Amino acid sequence: LQERRHLERDLRQAMAERQLELHYQPLANCDNARLLGFEALLRWTHPERGPISPAVFIPLAEECGLIMQLGSWVLRTACQEAATWPADKIVAVNLSPIQFRHADMAKEVLTILDQTGLAANRLELEITEGVLIDDTDRTLETLNALKAAGVRISLDDFGTGYSSLSYLHRFPFDKIKIDRSFIWEMEKNPDSMSIVRAVIALGRSLRITVTAEGVETAEQRDLLIKAGCDYAQGFLFARPLSPEVFEAFVGAPALAA
Ligand code: C2E
Ligand code: MG
Ligand code: MG
Repeated sequence: LQERRHLERDLRQAMAERQLELHYQPLANCDNARLLGFEALLRWTHPERGPISPAVFIPLAEECGLIMQLGSWVLRTACQEAATWPADKIVAVNLSPIQFRHADMAKEVLTILDQTGLAANRLELEITEGVLIDDTDRTLETLNALKAAGVRISLDDFGTGYSSLSYLHRFPFDKIKIDRSFIWEMEKNPDSMSIVRAVIALGRSLRITVTAEGVETAEQRDLLIKAGCDYAQGFLFARPLSPEVFEAFVGAPALAA
């Protein structure tokens, strides 16, 4: 408990002292590695402890109420930076379910787009099914308002959690991201391969594009190409890029994978 209190105190300080930065991981066409854009991933370098994983501090920020402020900063920064990229590159931003319970989420996103000058169709919001679990009318209203404005909505980590197919039915997602656990098991486990194929087929028939997460090997990529997967993201293509190395990637038409 004490450890968490310290971390919470440090996170508040990190936000004030700009110890946080965004790294950007390329999203590419599965078969020709053409660069579609980048997913913004939050990084925290603690002055004493070094890098702390977002898998640790995002849940903490959600519990202690810092996620609204943190999430706004991420969204604004990512949109500001993406507005300077070539106009055919999109930016994907992760949103916490808690941000969605906030009544004015659609308004906030649209205001940020307006202020940063980023076209709505260059922003992709990644949400997990947690957003839809307490599926209030307001959540759907928010998602529909964003979609109507041209923002794309993608369902992250698909296949973990409940993965209720009714989510796909209730809200017209633009993209499904297959969770990396399935991609890693694909080669050894025929059942995982079947699930990956089924999700790709499902996406295809619902006209939802499919991204595979965590693609690390050429073998995985080849299996995904054969299965008809649209996009891929993973260390095979590129790691999340720090601001120092990002410049070399942003103008590239395709990745070397
Ligand atoms: P996510 O949205 O599913 O992001 C993908 C995660 O997979 C990232 O971890 C990325 O570094 C990692 N990854 C990508 N390709 C590979 C690969 O080939 N191999 C391996 N081993 N890992 C790969 P990261 O950056 O640690 O982020 C973890 C999670 O934290 C994210 O999962 C997302 O849920 C959350 N997160 C990160 N940034 C934000 C943010 O700004 N806001 C919110 N709400 N959540 C965030
Ligand atoms: Mg994501
Ligand atoms: Mg994911």
